[in-house]
Amino acid sequence: MTEKKQAGYNKKMQKNDTRERQECPYHKKCGGCEYSGIPYEEQLQKKEKRVAKLLREFGKVEPIVGMSYPYYYRNKVHAVYAQKKNGEVICGTYEKDSHRVVDIESCLLENKGSTAIIRDIRGLLRSFKIKPYNEDTGYGLLRHVLVRHAHATGEVMVVLVLASPVMPSKNNFVKALRKMHPEITTVVLNINGRNTSMVLGEQEKVLYGKGYIVDELMGMRFRISAKSFYQVNPIQTKHLYQGAISLADLSGKERVLDAYCGTGTIGMIASRDAKEVVGVELNRDAVRDAVTNAKTNQVKNICFVCQDATEYICKAAANKEHFDVVLMDPPRAGSTKEFVDAVISLEPDRVVYVSCNPETLARDLKWFCRAYRVETIRPYDMFPLTGHVETVVLLSHKKAI
Ligand code: SAH
Repeated sequence: MTEKKQAGYNKKMQKNDTRERQECPYHKKCGGCEYSGIPYEEQLQKKEKRVAKLLREFGKVEPIVGMSYPYYYRNKVHAVYAQKKNGEVICGTYEKDSHRVVDIESCLLENKGSTAIIRDIRGLLRSFKIKPYNEDTGYGLLRHVLVRHAHATGEVMVVLVLASPVMPSKNNFVKALRKMHPEITTVVLNINGRNTSMVLGEQEKVLYGKGYIVDELMGMRFRISAKSFYQVNPIQTKHLYQGAISLADLSGKERVLDAYCGTGTIGMIASRDAKEVVGVELNRDAVRDAVTNAKTNQVKNICFVCQDATEYICKAAANKEHFDVVLMDPPRAGSTKEFVDAVISLEPDRVVYVSCNPETLARDLKWFCRAYRVETIRPYDMFPLTGHVETVVLLSHKKAI
């Protein structure tokens, strides 16, 4: 972007800042914020309507919980780097449904500090003669950069995703980057040599700092590694977790299952009001973080199992284990019929389903309705400016009238 263009762009962004409706100049190409340009109130209504349409048959939908300032909320920012024919290095995101890179100067969704780090890395590449990786030719080194920001502590992790393990002058590169951004607390190299749409590869090497960041949420400290899942909107996460845990209505006596638990966040916060919590999660790194998190926070009534949630619960059902409450927060694909059947046979009094996809939620609720009644449906806007919507549903067992 030329200086003149940049000045015009900044002016436009500043003007937008004061208005209720913000429009991103890249949104048509990038596709990251499909609700760009739509007033926030209208975005919320659209989401509420979508949830109501999909879940009408299960009950009344409560008003959506929105944000007071719905911009720059994403704590995890990812960019891809590419070199244009004229040699200029650009960075941003892939154009919708393609592998062409859209050069992005600023983004309404992303934490501003993280975007600045991504832009400054672009400048450093030139000085360090590091070439972006070219997917077609297989030439070049840097594929992606991931920046994770801990909202409460301010810790920042930069993950440099390379196509091969050798990075020339890596220590000087980190030094130069930290000079520009002293807020960076850790830098990790991740090697992804495969031809894949996955951003991160298996192999990792810590270049600087601890190799993870620590965030604080609702009075607890959580360790986050490059690969573990952590909610991307820190402000809304607090509301979402508070809502989900209060619907679970814990008295201190319950045995709780936190299925699809990630780094154990929901379960650990719930453990304060429960007798015992079991967290189940498939991702090894997330489970490792969860175990450490429990130790750091001195939570003694929680344990974690690294297993497929369906496999775990089917075995628990076969062993006639007892759970009073099941909290579940599956990925977009939702849960499985086997999981729901096993929950039904375990007969917990309440199930709190946290969903990031109302379509799969509707499917799973149909299965639950054989034995459970839907008590509450509450959408949360975790992803302003996008079409995504999160929903929390409370189910209670039909036998408990
Ligand atoms: N409750 C957590 C994580 C929710 S995201 C939080 O709020 O942070 C969904 C999680 O489900 C991810 O951590 C993902 O790794 C995990 N997951 C995906 N498929 C799974 C499966 N089949 N069994 C168990 N966990 C799974």
